[in-house]
Amino acid sequence: MRLPGFQLVRPANLAEVFAARRTYPGARLLAGGTDLVVNLRHGLGEPAVLIDLTAVPDLRDVALEPSSLRIGAAVTLERLTSDSLIAVHAPALADAARKIAGSAHRTVATLGGNLCLDTRCLYYNQSAWWRQSNGFCLKYRGDRCHVAPEGNRCRAAYSGDTAPVLLALGATAELADATGSRWVDLQSLFQEDGAAHLRLGDGQVLLGVRVPRSSGLVVGYEKARLRGAIDFPLAGVAVALRRENDRLADLRIAVTGTNSQPVLLKECEPLVGRPLDAALLQQVDKLVQRQVKPMRTTLTPAHGRRRMAAALAVRLARRLWGE
Ligand SMILES: Cc1cc2nc3c(=O)[nH]c(=O)nc-3n(C[C@H](O)[C@H](O)[C@H](O)COP(=O)(O)OP(=O)(O)OC[C@H]3O[C@@H](n4cnc5c(N)ncnc54)[C@H](O)[C@@H]3O)c2cc1C
Ligand code: SF4
Repeated sequence: MRLPGFQLVRPANLAEVFAARRTYPGARLLAGGTDLVVNLRHGLGEPAVLIDLTAVPDLRDVALEPSSLRIGAAVTLERLTSDSLIAVHAPALADAARKIAGSAHRTVATLGGNLCLDTRCLYYNQSAWWRQSNGFCLKYRGDRCHVAPEGNRCRAAYSGDTAPVLLALGATAELADATGSRWVDLQSLFQEDGAAHLRLGDGQVLLGVRVPRSSGLVVGYEKARLRGAIDFPLAGVAVALRRENDRLADLRIAVTGTNSQPVLLKECEPLVGRPLDAALLQQVDKLVQRQVKPMRTTLTPAHGRRRMAAALAVRLARRLWGE
């Protein structure tokens, strides 16, 4: 699994990033490389040029603004776990980052790379010869999906661990190209298509995220995985809630590892205003099971991942209510 040859471009500022995007249209963005380089070694893409984002100072900042915490896309996961501003204003993000990969990965892996992580599937994250012996698949080089052969869409699962916490916190994302930048809801960065799950236009770059301050939410993140030390989530759930006396004043639930995009659950509003009792937790369980759609993209059966997601949401909600 040799790394194919490529030219590495290392811009020193954003203007140079956008210039490189124009000069090398098929180029791929490289941050920590802990996802991209592994995929390139597996023969999943042969870009002639990689544009390394990690020398751009603007992308490495963590800054407190009047109403939000701004985190650059090239901030490393290790920094997410140790930065004092993040510890105060988004501790659940630090916790989610701590649960990603191993400590050596986290020293180079970035928030931007985690949010833009490629989707994963049993039939895709394999060596080239393995995939070739299966006739490849719809996501890359093939014309058939082995998970849902009757369909015409890839169902590979999005497995980034930071997205659910950021969705539950109501984060926005800054997207930019040579013409300027705009802030969008984080959810609108994603779409339910395993072969094209990011809504990043041609030449666009994710510059960073903003997390609202003082929301009064308590937030937690839990993931189920096969190996406790290092593994992608089979299901990962963030719950954010605000308690006023014995009533729920806000409830948000976001899930990763089950769909081709991270899912911010709909229909949580009707639960607000009620006490978090056994009846409400049963409704949380149903809400999760109805809205997440895992497919046979891992060795762990899909129905098990759906039930794991629901169980994690119930457990977290109960814990956060008691805090
Ligand atoms: C053994 C192992 C275990 C892992 N376990 C986990 C895990 O438990 N949970 C988890 O979430 N991940 C896991 N990962 C995947 C990966 O390490 C992390 O998701 C990491 O955060 C990716 O960040 P990176 O900077 O290395 O991304 P890269 O590999 O550099 O990039 C990933 C993708 O994002 C794109 N990209 C990067 N930055 C930007 C940007 N600013 N704008 C637009 N596109 C961009 C790249 O073009 C590429 O397509 C694991 C990886 C390995 C090898
Ligand atoms: S879901 Fe189907 S098309 Fe997508 S990676 Fe898996 S086998 Fe390939």
